[in-house]
This record gives sequence, structure tokens and C-alpha cells, in this order.
Amino acid sequence: MLSRMRHNIHTVFRSRIAMLTMLAYTAVLIACGVNIYKDSDDVNLGAQLDKEIRANPKEYPIMQGRPEVKSYVGGIVQKVLASPDVQKRAIYPYVVEIIQDDKTINAFCTPGGYIYVYTGLMKFLDNEASLAGVLGHEIAHAERRHATKRITAAHGAQILLGEVLGKNPSTVAQIAGNLFTNLGFLKNSRDDEMEADNYSMQYLRSTDYYPGSIKYFFEKIGAAGGSSSSSLTTLFLTHPPSEDRANNVQAKMAEWKVPSPAESQLFTKSYQAFKKKLP
Ligand SMILES: [Zn+2]
Repeated sequence: MLSRMRHNIHTVFRSRIAMLTMLAYTAVLIACGVNIYKDSDDVNLGAQLDKEIRANPKEYPIMQGRPEVKSYVGGIVQKVLASPDVQKRAIYPYVVEIIQDDKTINAFCTPGGYIYVYTGLMKFLDNEASLAGVLGHEIAHAERRHATKRITAAHGAQILLGEVLGKNPSTVAQIAGNLFTNLGFLKNSRDDEMEADNYSMQYLRSTDYYPGSIKYFFEKIGAAGGSSSSSLTTLFLTHPPSEDRANNVQAKMAEWKVPSPAESQLFTKSYQAFKKKLP
């Protein structure tokens, strides 16, 4: 009896130690913004998600038979990627795909740079510069590795301690597989959103586009009445909005002394013509 009790106390004590160690690890991982994954993990994870998305045309109906639409958006992506502040263009694939869904005003990017743009977003926006601003924001999520940082914060300690999936070091795919439910794990925090906005502005500085173009997107969301429509709810799933974000863009433009844009930085006319041809 006594020995069994001792054994139990011992087990409880040991699991307490493990728990405390895990909590300590977690605190350190979050505080330091650590990412326990390698860039190649981000790429593999992105490729896996891309495969899952392509295998689910009901939820993600990828546009077929209109290569000019994809190449138009891809051309904007390439302009943004040419920014000297983009660091992973040689190691992340950075490919774009169009999802034919007018009801969803959204775009998202997996780790490793698989970018998806909904026709709903393209039709919602008024000029090419706004789309460039949103694409810059998506690229920043990949560049800054927001998703794998979040996975590290949520599960990193368990993974490091080998408590989740044994001692198998290549667990990123399995973890991600468990997390991949309706893009839930691509939901970004407020800080990540703000950081992605800041990088978008920085990337656009080296392009022909007005650097603060993402603000037109925020203004339109505001004008559309917040979260009342279902398409905007979907947008909020992966990119929670905040009033601060619009103010942040204004402040940055003032700080950089960027004057109000001319049409030559917005590309409104050519974009409207492009939109008319969208299926
Ligand atoms: Zn975002």
C-alpha cells in the first residue's frame, strides 16, 4: 500500500515537473517569438495545404480555363516580390491561384508562399494598387512565418519535449494536418496583421504602386458595414480587422512623407477594365 502510494506520488511529481517544464518552454517560445521550424518546414507545410485545397474543389473552386487572370495577379505578385525587403523569394515557391467564389472577400497565404485570391476580393476592390497592397500583406505573412510561429507557441513545447508524437522530429505535417480545419490555423493575430500591413507598405515602396494602398481595402470594408455580411465574416476569419490598421497606414504615410497618390500609382482604369472581363 505504502509503496503504491509512494509510486503514485512519484508519478504525480514527475508529471508536475513535465508540466512545469512545458509551461516554462512555452513561455520562452512565446516571449522570444521563436520558431522551431525550418524554412523547409514552411515550404513542406504549404505544399501539403496546397494539395488539400486542390483536393477540395467544393470548398475551394479553383478558376479553370482563364490563365490570363492568374497571370495578371501573378504579375502583381512578381512586382511585390522584387522588393529588396523580400528575403525568401529564392527559397519559397510563391505561387498564386484564383478561387472562383464571388461571395468570399478574402485572400490567404499558406506557410511557404502558396497564395490564394478569391474572385470576391478582386471584384470588391477598385484599383490594382489595392490588390497589390493585399498581396503584399499575404506575402508578409509567409515571409514573417506567422503560421509556424503560432504553431510553435501553441505546440512547440510539447514537440520539443516529445510529448505529442513521440520522438519523431518531422512532426510539422502531422501537427498541421490536425490544425487544418477551414483555414482556422491561418487565422492571424492582431499583431501579425499589423506587422503584415507594415511589410506590405514597405514592399510597395519599391514598386509603381502607392505604398499605402491597402488602406482602400480597409476603407471599403468600413463602408460595407463591418461584419454584417457573410463574405466579410469570411474575410475576418483569416484577417481580423481593426480600426487601428487604417490609422496605422495613415501614420506610416505621414512618417514617410508620401504624398496623396496619382492615378499613375493606383491603376484604377486598367483595373476596372480587367474586372469587366472577370468571369
Ligand atoms: Zn492577414
